Amino acid sequence: MAFEKCIDIIKHAQRSNTSVFAVNCFDYNTVKGVIYAAEETATPVLVQLFPGHASQWKVTSIEGFAAITKQLASEVKTPIGLHLDHCYTYEEIRRAADAGFTSVMFDGSELSLEENAQKTKVIADEMHARGIAVEGEIGHVGLAAEDAGSDLDLYTKPEAAKQFYAESGVDLLAIAIGNAHGFYKGTPHLDIDRLDAIHAATEGLALVLHGGSGIPDDQLEVAFSRGINKFNYGTNYLWTYYKALAGFVKDHEKEDYADVLDMSIPAQNVLIEHMKERFHLCHFA
Ligand SMILES: [Zn+2]
Repeated sequence: MAFEKCIDIIKHAQRSNTSVFAVNCFDYNTVKGVIYAAEETATPVLVQLFPGHASQWKVTSIEGFAAITKQLASEVKTPIGLHLDHCYTYEEIRRAADAGFTSVMFDGSELSLEENAQKTKVIADEMHARGIAVEGEIGHVGLAAEDAGSDLDLYTKPEAAKQFYAESGVDLLAIAIGNAHGFYKGTPHLDIDRLDAIHAATEGLALVLHGGSGIPDDQLEVAFSRGINKFNYGTNYLWTYYKALAGFVKDHEKEDYADVLDMSIPAQNVLIEHMKERFHLCHFA
């Protein structure tokens, strides 16, 4: 049974001076792709669910997703964690905790620093009593489509990070240093000086980089060695899945009948190979 607490995997990443990948998944194929790539490369990983994919897109449910992840994790030896991505309500966080998620993100980044810290602390106290880790966010990781990665007003300030860490009691903190969600318009440039300053101001805290698809590998290697211990990866993974399914449809479009059931195994294999290639960025000791 390789289903492990997220905090233990994150501490392992901190000790190794590297970052664990937290990969956005939503169904059996995407979870299987991550877990089997982790197993084949002996790379600990976090499977993560964005709760909106359950509540708005309705492609899974919090409880069903947790069950799939725990089942697949039981088939491998490599540590697999289960994390809840950007969540805005206590109710969904509690549902995820009840379902077996061992780390959760409360995103109060649109609130004032004080209100964000106060609201995050309420959930951090409650979750810590249950052995569950909590991720917060300050600064604001916006959308790449809106060019948020170049908006300096959104970047995380080291003093604010220090204050938020002290007041909220989070285990993980998502920061904005030039990263953004979705497909980037140009090549993003991470503000590594700012990362160093935030890392120095928040000793012991695991920093999280969101918007991981499209940041050049050389910048990621630097960021992972200087305080980023969790790396959120979704856009490219889901795009890889889409292309695998679309490719299958194209290959069979001239046939009278193609079985939808035949799509899954080839797609899983594409996803496994994609993540195996990405995991070369992780250096777990
Ligand atoms: Zn994010």
